[in-house]
Amino acid sequence: MKIGVLSLQGDVREHARSLSDCGVHSSLVRRPSELEAVDALVIPGGESTTISKLARIFDIFQPIQERISAGMPVYGSCAGMILLADRVEDAIVGQESFGGLDVTVRRNAFGRQVDSFETDLTFKGITQPPIRAVFIRAPWVESVGSSVEVLAEVDGHPVAVRSDHLFATSFHPELTGDNRIHKFFIEEVCEPALKSASARNVVK
Ligand code: GLN
Repeated sequence: MKIGVLSLQGDVREHARSLSDCGVHSSLVRRPSELEAVDALVIPGGESTTISKLARIFDIFQPIQERISAGMPVYGSCAGMILLADRVEDAIVGQESFGGLDVTVRRNAFGRQVDSFETDLTFKGITQPPIRAVFIRAPWVESVGSSVEVLAEVDGHPVAVRSDHLFATSFHPELTGDNRIHKFFIEEVCEPALKSASARNVVK
């Protein structure tokens, strides 16, 4: 399995390291041809408006949308969550997301950069110890569609969600050295999605 890390802006290297610590080969994705070479994608945290503008400049915006529609597994962290959301509150005028995930996300929901914080989270599907989660000017999920499962919350606000092949967290697991969130993406999201895609190809 080849997982790409969208490398337009944000903590690209940290995600690549977390994936390689999980034993998965990752590659940097900036161009459409680099996207074609991967089975799944991580969209890192950073700044969502910057990433979406650069995605347009690098002509990879629409190819990412097409792959999302075609079932490519994607994990979006923080700004990446905003970029996967179908609806964004507190967006700047004209801000674009790739979409695909039937959620409304509120940008900068926990406050400004100085309100960034860490906390321990109970995460559905990952057993003890709790996940140490780093929130940096993070979004939260305001509401979810019926296909979306909430995996973790802070004060009643969803901060980790999953719908079929799409997975998103408001926080930054790549910064803590605990690779269980990346492992969850690989084992619970990518592997089943890629297995059913190859089963469909065999039937064809
Ligand atoms: N506040 C940022 C945004 O709107 C996200 C912050 C992050 O990714 N750490 O894109």
